[in-house]
Amino acid sequence: GATIGILGGGQLGRMLSVAAARLGFKTHIYEPGANPPAADVAHACTTAAYDDAAALTAFAQSVNVITYEFENIPTAALDILEALKPIHPNREALRISQDRLTEKDFLTGLGLQTAPYADIPDADALTAALGTIGTPAILKTRRFGYDGKGQARLMSDADAPQAITDMAGAPALLEGFVDFSIEVSVIAARSASGDVACYDPGENIHRDGILHTTTVPARLSASLRTDAVLLAARILNALDYVGVMGVELFVTPSGLIVNEVAPRVHNSGHWTQNGCAVDQFEQHIRAVAGWPLGDGQRHSDVVMENLIGDDMDRVPDLAATRDTALHLYGKADVKPGRKMGHVNRIVR
Ligand code: ATP
Ligand code: MG
Ligand code: MG
Repeated sequence: GATIGILGGGQLGRMLSVAAARLGFKTHIYEPGANPPAADVAHACTTAAYDDAAALTAFAQSVNVITYEFENIPTAALDILEALKPIHPNREALRISQDRLTEKDFLTGLGLQTAPYADIPDADALTAALGTIGTPAILKTRRFGYDGKGQARLMSDADAPQAITDMAGAPALLEGFVDFSIEVSVIAARSASGDVACYDPGENIHRDGILHTTTVPARLSASLRTDAVLLAARILNALDYVGVMGVELFVTPSGLIVNEVAPRVHNSGHWTQNGCAVDQFEQHIRAVAGWPLGDGQRHSDVVMENLIGDDMDRVPDLAATRDTALHLYGKADVKPGRKMGHVNRIVR
């Protein structure tokens, strides 16, 4: 069988490997950190840095196609890999999603709504942008932010100096605060032949900047549900995308506002493992392997809850609860804020 190379050995790489194995593929993980969660379930794992040209070359030579579980892959590494094997989703999807400014420009260029935003290279730019965008607002690093890290909230202009200090010199983006009723996300997939399929939108609740629960179905009108799916398809088609993408949306009285996109399987899509015949991980593997997309129709209502840090203490109870599917990542040390697993509760 073919071997799928996966850049990144976290829980997403682990669950992609499990899905790939179910379809008869082997996976080869590339991960700089020691003992990555994906290594336990993959056929091979290379532990090497992203500037190790020899390791990258050997990795690419050992696989048929390359995909990834995170978007911050250095450009030089991609250049080496792409010369040897196809990478899905493509470079353009990575380039756009690696930088919040590029991403917002791309989305507004497609005619989609985003929060008002401005590039903030320095303190003067922040003063100017606060004049047009106003407060409340959020200053975010353009690159490398996740789980709400690299963000500073500004309730008034007086918060500007502290917010600039928090960015520690990193290029940043100011976003106007969106007064949303709920947050939803669409997990969308596109095959190599251009077919698009979207999972039913999920409703997301965050705690301390980290996704806490995803509930399906989301509380969305039929017309917003259609809007969500159509806008996700517009994004994937514009990028000639192959694979699964997570599209995070704010629901407001003036319609759906795109928060951000992730060119990979997404935490808010974990419910699909127990709510659909073909989950997001299998869907992604199918797409990158050139297969047709599978049946992603939701057959059950599900509440997905992340197990973070000490939530692991609840595992014995959860393991004894009916209608409850546990997914644990095999991470050795429990740390506050660390994603250790998740649980999918089927709602009947
Ligand atoms: P992720 O872990 O999803 O990648 P992230 O660090 O990239 O998170 P965002 O998704 O940009 O961060 O923001 C985290 C959360 O903060 C959002 O889900 C939302 O609840 C809130 N938020 C972000 N931007 C805005 C905004 N412009 N207006 C209102 N709330 C916002
Ligand atoms: Mg993000
Ligand atoms: Mg987000």
